Amino acid sequence: MTTFAGPAPTEFIELDERWSTHNYHPLPVVITEAEGAWVTDVTGRRYLDFLSAYSALNFGHRHPELVAAAVTQLGRVTLTSRAFHHDVLGRFCAELAQLTGTEMVLPMNTGAEAVESALKVARKWAYEVKGVPAGQAEIVVAGSNFHGRTISIVSFSTDETARTGFGPYTPGFVVVKYGDAAALADAITERTAAVLLEPIQGEAGVIVPPDGYLAEARRLCDEAGVLLIADEIQSGLARTGTLLALDHERVRADLYTLGKALGGGIVPLSAVVGRRDVLGVLNPGEHGSTFGGNPLACAVGRAVIRLLSTGEYQRRSASLGAHLHARLGELVGHGLAEVRGRGLWAGIDIAPGGLSGRAASEELAGRGVLCKETHGATLRIAPPLTISQEDLDQGIDAIAAVVRRPATS
Ligand SMILES: *Cc1c(COP(=O)(O)O)cnc(C)c1O
Repeated sequence: MTTFAGPAPTEFIELDERWSTHNYHPLPVVITEAEGAWVTDVTGRRYLDFLSAYSALNFGHRHPELVAAAVTQLGRVTLTSRAFHHDVLGRFCAELAQLTGTEMVLPMNTGAEAVESALKVARKWAYEVKGVPAGQAEIVVAGSNFHGRTISIVSFSTDETARTGFGPYTPGFVVVKYGDAAALADAITERTAAVLLEPIQGEAGVIVPPDGYLAEARRLCDEAGVLLIADEIQSGLARTGTLLALDHERVRADLYTLGKALGGGIVPLSAVVGRRDVLGVLNPGEHGSTFGGNPLACAVGRAVIRLLSTGEYQRRSASLGAHLHARLGELVGHGLAEVRGRGLWAGIDIAPGGLSGRAASEELAGRGVLCKETHGATLRIAPPLTISQEDLDQGIDAIAAVVRRPATS
């Protein structure tokens, strides 16, 4: 059983249960404050954040430079709509393109919107540039993908919980096994507009594809004149020890979707970045978003880019990640069946006979560490990249204690 230091914060949980839809099943922790890698609940109990809002909090909670950028912009202008220019958008886009080595930026808000936008751009590019007959473009995606929750995106999900009950589904998607280059080669036809992949599948349990898979995907796309779209919403922006997870393979995508950490944990901010001749297919009126590229989000985004341009967070993720993986690796055969991941990002499978993922995350919360199960007996570990080695070790100690426990005790 999980033991909490203070009284269970049941009033807040009951309000949520009564008035908010039940599309999540949160741990029974009610957070009221946070700083860095730590959050405090309404009873005053502190927890280490080992989830970082699925990598949206790569820089920790309330990073002072990010908060300062937001506060400054709140004192100027927060929203103009794209009916007018404002003085932050262009600088944000230029700096993001320079950081990522790309040519053009389409700013949006949430990750799912960035993915939807990339799919729309890829289809339009296929008709206008590649010459695919109208209405026939196909986009190849991977099994066990996670790209968001819109109707079109869940149309090509292989997760029945995410998909069932939401049809009719959007056509034009072909699903192949992740990590299988031969299956990808077979799926590409002259009607293929794009291949959409996560360089590491986060939601699926931090699945790293076999060596050479992403390079082979790049080669197949080049050979067939197909766009490679990398969804780096969770894997990008220093999470794996490099700016983009594709950098490990020295592979470049034609389009990247970015989100989560781009908004510094303060505002929703996403973007599609990539080739000018591809993103250039969009003309006025063909796509948009009222809040996309708003001054407040762009100001926070610029501060995020400044943090990333130092390389400090990439280095921290690489070095602390090596430590994390070395320590988790020692638990394989001692409570863990497998450890996967890169940088300060790990998917760990609790060995058969141990706790379920849900029970383990409840136990960890009881020991002051917050993380979340993905499927079955898999936990996803993603502390803020700002975490100290001491705090990281404290969290790993708790994980070691929990995963060693048999399910029956
Ligand atoms: C979280 C995520 C998304 C969706 O982002 P939202 O902001 O939740 O819409 C898309 N792709 C990947 C890889 C993600 O991790």
